[in-house]
Parts: sequence; structure tokens; C-alpha cells
Amino acid sequence: MKSLEEYLRDAEEAHGHLCAGQVLGVRMAMLGLRKLGMEDPQGKDRKRLVTFVEIDRCATDAVAVVTGCRLGKRALKFRDWGKVAATFVDVSTGAAFRIAARESSKQRARSMHPEIADKNQQQMLAYREMADEDLFDVQAVRVELPPEEFPGYKGERAVCDECGEGVNFRREVRREGRVLCRACAGERYWMPLGGR
Ligand SMILES: [Zn+2]
Ligand SMILES: [Zn+2]
Repeated sequence: MKSLEEYLRDAEEAHGHLCAGQVLGVRMAMLGLRKLGMEDPQGKDRKRLVTFVEIDRCATDAVAVVTGCRLGKRALKFRDWGKVAATFVDVSTGAAFRIAARESSKQRARSMHPEIADKNQQQMLAYREMADEDLFDVQAVRVELPPEEFPGYKGERAVCDECGEGVNFRREVRREGRVLCRACAGERYWMPLGGR
């Protein structure tokens, strides 16, 4: 594992700026790896780690930088819960830890560095210095990961009976003898406008 400073540099480069969320994300991921006893998430441990993130903000990019888990490798899973939290799963052992930023950490940052008026600057510094216990709540958890959730899963490809689009990774819905994609099954996040 690299040092906090090295990861912060990597995170800044990947994210475009350094901010309090990056510091939080880097420390969260470093703690998750330590809890799992993973030394080399980008090298020899690279196939062992799956990470769930619960927010799509600055901290998420930092978690991806440290863990090497990417959406495109199916090793990064997004649950849109609006929480600065992530769960780190060792798929080789089933060990998993959910780590959530403590709501009290902002207040603590204020009391640690009242001399810094800018909130982001204040939190950036305090989040580097704060003890893990003050920054995060850690829980040992169990995550049910069916085979189709694993990065290397290759399964049959289904074709939607309604729209004809292909569906991978068992994301199809079977209903009354028909095979449907999730959009045609009613989960559509878009509305067709009728044009091409
Ligand atoms: Zn940011
Ligand atoms: Zn469809």
C-alpha cells in the first residue's frame, strides 16, 4: 500500500482537485484494505476485492483510486443511498467491512481547526489528522454475492422480448413466460420522445 500522501496525490490527479471528500475517501479505502489485510489491491490482491459505494461524490473517486475497483471491471458497485460509506469485500474469504463517515467529524474538524475559516480547507486538514475512530464507524458485515456479481462472470445473454435489446449478467426479468429488460419491465428512468 502507498502512503496517505501518495494516494492523495493520485486522487488529486484522477479527480481534478484535492478536497475534503478526497481525503475522506482515501482514508476510508485505506482503512478498508487494512481491515481486510490487503497489501496490494492493484497487484496481487486485485482479483480479491469488490467495493460497494453508497454515494456518487468526491469520496467515490478517491475510493476507486485507492482500491483500483472500477465500474467497468464490475468490481465497483454503486448503491445510490446518498451516504459517505463504502463496503469492502474480500471475495476469496467472504470477509467484509462497511465503513461510514461519522456525522460528528465535521463538528470535530471545526473544533480542531477553528483558525481556518474555509470549511473545505479546515476539513481537508482535520481529516488527515483525525484518528480512524473519530472519522469512521466500522462494522464487520456479510455481503451475499451471487456468481453474476463477480467481476469475471460470463453468463448467457438474454434478449428482451419487448425491445429486442440484449441483457447481460442476469439482469433480465422473467414475467408470465416472457423475458424482459428492466426498462420494459417498468424500471425505465427515461421516457421515449418518439423521434430518432
Ligand atoms: Zn472533490
Ligand atoms: Zn426491453
